[in-house]
Amino acid sequence: MERQFTKEIESLRLGDGETFHGEGILAVTKALLQAGVSYVGGYQGAPVSHLLDVMVQAKDYLDELGVHVEACTSEASAAAMLGASINYPARGAVTWKSIVGTNVAADALSYLASAGVMGGTLIVLGEDYGEGGVVAQERSHAFALKSLMWLLDPRPNLSTIANMVERGFELSEASNTPVMMELRIRACHVRGSFRSKKNLAPAVSTLHKLDGPPKEFIYDRLAHPPATFRQEKLKSDVRLPAARRFIAEHKLNEVFPGTENVGIVVQGGLYNGLMRALRTLGLADAFGASRIPILALNVVYPLVPDEIAGFAENKRALLVLEEGQPEFIEQEIATFLRRADVPGKLHGKDFMHMAGEYNLEAMVRGLSRFVEIHAPHLDTSSGAAWMQSVQRTKEKASATLAALPVRPPTFCVGCPERPVFSAMKLVANEIGRPHVSMDVGCHAFASFEPFSQGNTLLGYGMSLAAAAGVNPMSSKRAVAVMGDGGFWHNGLLSGVASNLMNKGDGVLVIMKNGYASATGTQELLSSPPEDARMVAVGESAAGADRTIENTLSGLGVKWLRTVNNYDVGAMARTYREAMTTPEKGLKVIVAEGECQLERQRRLKPQVADKLKKGERYVRVKYGVDEDTCTGDHSCIRLSGCPTLTVKDNPDPLRRDPVATVIDGCVGCGLCGENAHAAVLCPSFYRAEVIQNPSVWDKLMHRIV
Ligand code: SF4
Ligand code: SF4
Repeated sequence: MERQFTKEIESLRLGDGETFHGEGILAVTKALLQAGVSYVGGYQGAPVSHLLDVMVQAKDYLDELGVHVEACTSEASAAAMLGASINYPARGAVTWKSIVGTNVAADALSYLASAGVMGGTLIVLGEDYGEGGVVAQERSHAFALKSLMWLLDPRPNLSTIANMVERGFELSEASNTPVMMELRIRACHVRGSFRSKKNLAPAVSTLHKLDGPPKEFIYDRLAHPPATFRQEKLKSDVRLPAARRFIAEHKLNEVFPGTENVGIVVQGGLYNGLMRALRTLGLADAFGASRIPILALNVVYPLVPDEIAGFAENKRALLVLEEGQPEFIEQEIATFLRRADVPGKLHGKDFMHMAGEYNLEAMVRGLSRFVEIHAPHLDTSSGAAWMQSVQRTKEKASATLAALPVRPPTFCVGCPERPVFSAMKLVANEIGRPHVSMDVGCHAFASFEPFSQGNTLLGYGMSLAAAAGVNPMSSKRAVAVMGDGGFWHNGLLSGVASNLMNKGDGVLVIMKNGYASATGTQELLSSPPEDARMVAVGESAAGADRTIENTLSGLGVKWLRTVNNYDVGAMARTYREAMTTPEKGLKVIVAEGECQLERQRRLKPQVADKLKKGERYVRVKYGVDEDTCTGDHSCIRLSGCPTLTVKDNPDPLRRDPVATVIDGCVGCGLCGENAHAAVLCPSFYRAEVIQNPSVWDKLMHRIV
């Protein structure tokens, strides 16, 4: 696992009146326990991975409370877990990265929202939208609207976030509706504190078990016709009004008064950015007092018509700050105001851009326009000066950056996936480039230089399915690359089973690195067993488990090879055979090599222990003989390792920079393998750095 959360787990035990310090997402974890959650599930993904990671690591404490925690195999299984709250008064929470995870969970969510819930359910979404986002840029808001599930978007401070977790459960129970809470990247990682409360023992738990199913069988709790027709009516006739009543009565949305007769309606999650923009414009102080009144929507769906009309009353104009497209909130507000005959101008996307994050610069620009037209007496000259300075910085940066080489993101130093792409590149030089269907995960880095392999990306575990249409139309076999995380998430059924059922062809490369590495090295069904990891100093532990191979054989995959990733020659031979064999059917190469990041983390304490005890330890490092290096850099084009780089040629008569290996080299061996497999120049050498040398080592050192 990426991190040990020992300190954070301790803070889960905090009681009444104590102070919780930490990140936003960890405040959610504590608040779930304060709210008496009975069960927690989810699928890892930034920026909410820590919620589940902490819960999994805190198993002993959660057992004391009777809280059940499940690391689900996909968001769909996590969403389906919430079915426990349909019939029983059990509060449940699940978490995943959105929009991708919500897409995967969509089926179960639709059924859950239709049936409605008795126990409160909270879905904590890592809203991966905006400048740091790594998935398709869409908003979870659309799911809330189409299924009539409520959507919280709390102001990014720990007290509000924790409070909204508890109110979220109550709202869910008051309206029998699942509630989603979106937390943007910054909200997840915002640091702060809040006054904690004692954790509540769940009403139903692993300690207080249910006697059995409900005494009275209620067909209406099944999302199945004819119940679904009644459930659809219940959503708008009963659940929606109940939710609006709860939101208004408990003042979940917050009004911050001001002196001007214009107003701003903002998604709660954008509140901190708005305050910074107002301050930059000279319209707010450092303590959050704004001259313009603000309605911060901690609940962005449903909106409460009276609340909106009440805020807009007597205001000359409103500006709605709603990130992304389309402008769901603005459209709904326009409808409410028109129906209530509230005069005044409504602005939003006419002053702000439609697609993309509302960063400080965008907010300052939009607010300046709004103020200029509707409150021109306000002095915003400090904002104008700031914008000019930003512009100057941009111009300077673009002039400087134009002179710098592009540095695409890449694999970690020593990553086991890099040699596979080196081998694929070597074979492509011989047989021509095939279509490569890429998947979500670390291997997607191979889409960048120097590999440039990956023609499509259709979702987690979807690469083989995405090759199904291309393969029959291609003269060369299409190649799908998939991680072991993606394989278990969706790839086994959507890809492998579908290919076998359709008697498909093609090549599937499964990166068996042992963990869901890209999300923080969480465990998989095929992760190496704990004892295999402990004894494997210097070795890959990924091969200790054969579940993937056994599953594929059991399903009927006939052409199946497991290859050590770092053996570039063997990998190239196997891949070439898969691409060219006349044998029909799916060809699967299990590329085996433990995630180097996890391996280094695992080995670090073991190595430190050895050194402390004075035991001999040998570290391998590669290097380049600068006199032999020809300076053509084909080794770099075949590897892309960040520690294999260039330096000035020491020979005054030669101008081309030579290759060099810098300090971070972990001695993975790829440099030597590539030099051998691609018959490169003989300039690479392998060195052994011996710590705590033996008498023999010292003697040999003297002799040599
Ligand atoms: S996290 Fe692991 S699998 Fe991912 S790039 Fe780093 S070493 Fe490779
Ligand atoms: S051996 Fe080469 S590829 Fe491996 S870590 Fe060292 S420099 Fe990078």
